[in-house]
Amino acid sequence: IRLVANIGVAIAEENCSQPDDLIRDAHSAMRHAKQKDGGYAMFDRSIAQRVTPSTTERRLREALERGQFVLHYQPVVSLQTQRMVKVEALIRWEDPERGLVPPGDFIPALEETGLIVPVGNWVLEEACRQARRWQELYADRAPLAVTLNVSTRQLAQYDFPDVLTRALTVTQVDPSLICLEITEGALMHDVEAAWTMLRTAKTSGVALALDDFGTGFSSLSFLRKFSMDILKIDKSFVDGLGHSREDTTIVEHLIGMARGLGMVTVAEGVETADQVKYLRSLDCHMAQGFYYCKPQPAEVIDQIMGEPTNSGWTPEQGRQAVSGTTPATATATIGLDA
Ligand code: C2E
Ligand code: MG
Ligand code: MG
Repeated sequence: IRLVANIGVAIAEENCSQPDDLIRDAHSAMRHAKQKDGGYAMFDRSIAQRVTPSTTERRLREALERGQFVLHYQPVVSLQTQRMVKVEALIRWEDPERGLVPPGDFIPALEETGLIVPVGNWVLEEACRQARRWQELYADRAPLAVTLNVSTRQLAQYDFPDVLTRALTVTQVDPSLICLEITEGALMHDVEAAWTMLRTAKTSGVALALDDFGTGFSSLSFLRKFSMDILKIDKSFVDGLGHSREDTTIVEHLIGMARGLGMVTVAEGVETADQVKYLRSLDCHMAQGFYYCKPQPAEVIDQIMGEPTNSGWTPEQGRQAVSGTTPATATATIGLDA
């Protein structure tokens, strides 16, 4: 058992007219310290901005209870066959007040309030249920794998292996169709605990992907220690492919290194035909990005899968399936025959 103390310090200034205000600020600072994995934090204005007001917390809790979270799915395409081989489940909040809210606007609040654990568990089960549904509906096709994001906070829960087993059992999905994405930087906080969880997850048959690779510490010893199946190269490097010597060299070597380690490489945030060409020349396995398709509701993936002539997916078919569904896919119309 590892015990950690978190201390929040606040000093009564003009913003504290009541004792409660001081306690509130100390509490905010304490929550900030907690996020840093223990220690202390002094309250300041930047913390006040980052720490979620309790109304947000209440609204997010209600969102979970009222089923306002939804998953959209973004195709991941094989660079060899140009077909959709899997989809990444990405959460959205259907807020009755604001409409569809992207995860960047509420995941930090979920993390800070700890609500990421129940919400993340919902994502896990929902993604497994959807994967099972596609597995059944399109049994005659190449199976469609579903990859989902897991927060380190969720991973750090002592019962995470049970939660995973329950999701797999309840939905009866083939575990080999499920992949858990973990962001590299986040894993570094408590390497030992994460290692235990990931090892357990692996024994249940799911695949593991290292997300946003290159944005965190990118420790090579980390890659050696965790036997991950998939390396997702961050968009920030893919952006510079072909015109930034640094980015091109980094992507080239990341792909080579991952290949040597027996990992599958996925390039994230692919937006142009040139990037696709470049990635193909570097023997990158898969790509995901607006070039192919923006994240879509499950029904759109159904339409793509339902194409009678195809056992997979081509950007052309994807475009037809989504045309008229959402203007968001307009960018996918450029040079799809690359
Ligand atoms: P991520 O896991 O790296 O997901 C990829 C993000 O890049 C998605 O943003 C996707 O819409 C966006 N993206 C994909 N292709 C392109 C492209 O070509 N251009 C641009 N500009 N963006 C592209 P999204 O859906 O807003 O998600 C952002 C992040 O939120 C995710 O990054 C992930 O870290 C987190 N997230 C999403 N869903 C969940 C979830 O269910 N649980 C947890 N813990 N985190 C989640
Ligand atoms: Mg991801
Ligand atoms: Mg990513």
